[in-house]
Amino acid sequence: MSLRLKLISALTTILVVAFISVSLFNYNVSRDSARDEIQHSALPLTRDNIYSEMQSGLMRPLFVSSLMANDIFLKDWVAEGETDVVKIMRYLGEIRDKYGFFTSFFVSAKTNDYYYYDGVLKTVSRHDRHDVWYYDFVDSGMSYDFDVDSNEAADDILTIFINHRVEDRAGNLLGVVGVGLKMDQVAGLLKTFTEKYSKNIFLVDPKGVVQAHTDKELIENLNINDVPGIGSIASDVLEMDRDNPALFKYKNGDETVHLTARFIPEFHWFLIVEQNESIAMKAARDNFIRTLSIGALATLLIILLSIVSINHFQGRLEVQANTDELTGVANRRSFEKRVDSAMTKCTKDGSPFSVVLLDIDGFKVVNDTCGHNEGDRVIKEVCTVINSSIRDSDLCARWGGDEFIILVHGDSEQAAIIAERIRESVEKTSVCAEMSDKNDGGIMVTVSCGVAQYVCGDSLDSLNLRADKAMYESKDQGKNRVVIA
Ligand code: GH3
Ligand code: MG
Repeated sequence: MSLRLKLISALTTILVVAFISVSLFNYNVSRDSARDEIQHSALPLTRDNIYSEMQSGLMRPLFVSSLMANDIFLKDWVAEGETDVVKIMRYLGEIRDKYGFFTSFFVSAKTNDYYYYDGVLKTVSRHDRHDVWYYDFVDSGMSYDFDVDSNEAADDILTIFINHRVEDRAGNLLGVVGVGLKMDQVAGLLKTFTEKYSKNIFLVDPKGVVQAHTDKELIENLNINDVPGIGSIASDVLEMDRDNPALFKYKNGDETVHLTARFIPEFHWFLIVEQNESIAMKAARDNFIRTLSIGALATLLIILLSIVSINHFQGRLEVQANTDELTGVANRRSFEKRVDSAMTKCTKDGSPFSVVLLDIDGFKVVNDTCGHNEGDRVIKEVCTVINSSIRDSDLCARWGGDEFIILVHGDSEQAAIIAERIRESVEKTSVCAEMSDKNDGGIMVTVSCGVAQYVCGDSLDSLNLRADKAMYESKDQGKNRVVIA
């Protein structure tokens, strides 16, 4: 595996692991806080709000029942022998109309007659299953009670009755008086709560039987003990400390449901408020997916950016490694590579190639007289002349100091022609500029060239040696000339 691939893989791994870890950590934190929010804030607050709204909603009928139970008219009417039925009808009718209740009634303990706003409905009996409520209530000794039952006086419509005990001054039972609300009204109230708080809200009696629910079908027909899921904690709920609300949790399939319950002493029922965890978790999950997506995108961009940067710097390093810094032409290293491939090509198909070794004449004088910077400029200028004189397929490299080497595709004759062209151009164009004013045109710059053609079996060294000898011969012959080896 290349170093670059290793680097990119390591970077990707670090970023992916970091982003996934951060996202998971965040997800866990938001999930825990969402759960905590449900358990310790949303559910208890909703429960207590509903509790007080429900109390104020149902306390009014209880209050009216209590007033009726203490009404001197009712007591007198019973004491007078329950003779004028019209009077009690009118009394019950007025209560019903004035407070907008569904029904109002009085059951006499003496005659067992059931009076309501329309007359006498029946005479209650221990043997009539419809009248069990009456005897249960009387036997319980409670002063009032809430009871969900079908209303015989009105097409058996499911009604919530608020029963209140009526006693004379001596505490003897005179009967049971009360009012009834249509369960529809209570269901409506629950529906409003359910919509307002987006939670499942219902009431159960101490046995677990549903007493109020948005779904009327369930009332008196469903026991939470028999429902899968909530059934697993039903007994805990029903046996909870009635003085303190409590929190529960159960599994409904894959879903976790949080539940809070509170006993309502006035009704002798439990108020139950539930919430599925998944709704609250959705925000945390969405956030998790969002963070991961952003992480994936950021990782991708960082990796892309890294690849581009690495490629860029690697390219620059490669250029630097193969280029002469001062002139920008090839250096020894890259020249050797090119000569290698030229040798291979020559061995394969006999394509001839030659090298021209070129040295600036008397360069020390240029340096000494015009300064090192001017010397540099002259080197660069000679380089420019060389580059403009050779073909694209040929290559000029700086061999060191004031020495250049040129790879020419062709035999020594062709290479000598190019070398001569360069020599002439340098002679014509290059001068040591600093001295041009004082020295009548300045110091003329010339070059000496040695040309050698590659022959089979040559190494770069042996080829260069021949070119070098030729170049020195050129120097010996008076410089500014081309000598073929
Ligand atoms: P000759 O005609 O025999 O070649 O004489 P010369 O003075 O050119 O002698 P030689 O080629 O041996 O000297 C090369 C000089 O080039 C020596 C060194 O100080 C100078 N030199 C080498 N590299 C650089 C460079 O990068 N910049 C400059 N300005 N001078 C350099
Ligand atoms: Mg020289």
